[in-house]
Order: sequence, then structure tokens, then C-alpha cells
Amino acid sequence: MAAINEFELIDRFFRRPSQSAVLGIGDDAALVQSTPGHEIALSVDMLVAGRHFFEDVDPESLGYKALAVNLSDMAAMGAKPRWALLAGALPHVESDWLAAFARGFFALADDHGVELIGGDTTRGPLTLCVTIIGEVPRGKALTRGGASPGDAIWLSGPLGDAALALACHSRRVELTASEFESCERALLRPNPRVALGERLRGVASAAIDISDGLTGDLGHVLEASRVGATIQLAAIPRSAVLGARMHGARRAVAIDALLAGGDDYELCFTAPAARTADVESVGRELRLDLASIGVVTSGTALRVEDEAGQALERLPRAFDHFADY
Ligand code: ADP
Ligand code: MG
Repeated sequence: MAAINEFELIDRFFRRPSQSAVLGIGDDAALVQSTPGHEIALSVDMLVAGRHFFEDVDPESLGYKALAVNLSDMAAMGAKPRWALLAGALPHVESDWLAAFARGFFALADDHGVELIGGDTTRGPLTLCVTIIGEVPRGKALTRGGASPGDAIWLSGPLGDAALALACHSRRVELTASEFESCERALLRPNPRVALGERLRGVASAAIDISDGLTGDLGHVLEASRVGATIQLAAIPRSAVLGARMHGARRAVAIDALLAGGDDYELCFTAPAARTADVESVGRELRLDLASIGVVTSGTALRVEDEAGQALERLPRAFDHFADY
């Protein structure tokens, strides 16, 4: 496949008829028309081989996930994702790999009505960088800064399975083949909670998506809102696979995965107690098992209570790319 050049590659794998952009792929910049009365939400995420994914990962899953992590950021802002830009460094051009990558990317993009309007392509160590552009009605974005004491803390779904898949890779936990398969699915195919984010506008007081682990990400909300929180370990939703390891020899690994495992992409949000019925009705409407896991407190501490109501003495650290372990 040495014969294909950069522009043929873009045309063949990434250029599609324009949907909603004024001008899509092919010029020096794309042009889009923003919706009156809305603010633009922008975010970029980079995935580096060997750091965020295994170099030999299934390319279709990688294409899916490169976009999913960005959609999750839009969800956390209550924004509707509209357009994406894709920058990629590829060690070599392999058309089966690119076709599978594009299939995964566009399947998710189509599900959410997101149009790929540009990017950049270069040779280099495998790295993918997606920029997402969304819209949110003026003044209605969900931020990290709006939580108040007394608000309930909610999660959109189970945590920890993606981390368990990684723990299995590094032999810190043993999983059966079918357990590994379901955990790996959580790792490779996270479900960005875009519809939930949009429905939470005007209901949630603050929101974040769980990309680096619950305690760290909830910690960002607490810091931005200048509040504390008490959450119950037992209330944190988990899969049967993780639940089976909460008691016994692997409890520490399971607690780590639940509290500090990254790559979950569920939403963690706060809402005033008076809005509980609204949150529950959004959950029913979207068929999501929204779980109330604790309450926002005054002060700044995060307290995690175990099954017996005792505070955990040590909270596992959230993932930090620059922490020296
Ligand atoms: P420039 O030299 O102006 O940066 P390029 O030659 O890099 O333009 O890209 C040509 C066109 O193809 C641009 O519209 C750019 O946005 C688009 N493009 C390049 N790489 C990708 C990609 N991986 N996915 C989508 N669009 C891309
Ligand atoms: Mg370029």
C-alpha cells in the first residue's frame, strides 16, 4: 500500500458528503454555521499508542473510542456534539487498518449526528487526536462549579470494569474468558452519555465525566464548587464481575477499580434534593439506572464510607499521566 498518498488516504477513508457543515473536508479550514442562541463547546483529546491503548488494539474499536471520549466531554457539559476534527499520526498506511478505524469512528459519529469536517494526517508514532465541537443553549452548560451542600451525587452507570480489564492484562486480577470479554467491552466501547447530558440541563447543578476515576474526577467537581462530599461505597454501581471481587482476596483491586479506575466515561453529576424526581424521570426515559451515591457537604473533604459506614482511611489515587508511581 505504499502507492497511496496523503490526499488519497483522506479522500478514501475520511471524506464523506457534507451533512451540516457549510464547508467540510478539502479546503484550508472547514466552515460551520452556529445555531443562534447557543454557545460553542470545544474540546480535544489525544490517544497515544502504548499509553492510552495497546498498539495492536482492534482498529475499529480504536476509531470508536477516539470519538467516544470526546463525545463524553460534550455530555459532561450538557452540549450537543455537532462536528469533529481528526488528527492522526500513523506509522504506516495500511488500508485494512484504516478502513476498520474509519468504520468504528463513523458508526459512532452517525449515531450522534456528528460530522467529520477536517483534520490532519502525518507519519509518526501511532497517535490520534480528535477535536469535538458542540453546541449548548446560551448559559445552560453544565460545569464542574455548581454543586452546593445538600445536593445529591449521581452516577449514570457502573464503574470499574475498564480498569478490571487492564488489571487482568497486568495480572493483578484473574478473570474468566467471558468476564474478561465483558470488561474489555467496557474498556474498548464506552457509551458516551450524550443524551443524558442534554437532558440534565436545568436539572443538574454540576457534572463531569469519569475518565480518570471517580475520586479524582468527583474531586475536580468538589474543588471547582468549593464543597466536600460523603459517598457510600456500597451505592456505587458495579457489574457482577466487579461485585464478585468486592469480598475476598481481590477486594483491594476491586475497590481501586471502582474508586479510581479510569476509562469509564459514565457521568457523575450533582442535583438539588428537590430535583430527585426529575433525575429519576430522566433515568426512566433514557433507560439508565441512575444511582444516587452520596451527598455534597460543606467543607472540602471527600469522605468515602464503606459497607459498615466507616470512612475509608486511604482513597486510591486517580489516574495522573505525570504522577511518578
Ligand atoms: P493543510 O495543508 O491546509 O493543513 P491538509 O493538506 O493537511 O491541509 O488537509 C487537506 C484537507 O483534508 C483539510 O481540509 C483537512 O482538514 C483534511 N484532513 C486532513 N487529514 C484528515 C483526517 N485524518 N480526517 C479528516 N480530514 C482530514
Ligand atoms: Mg494539514
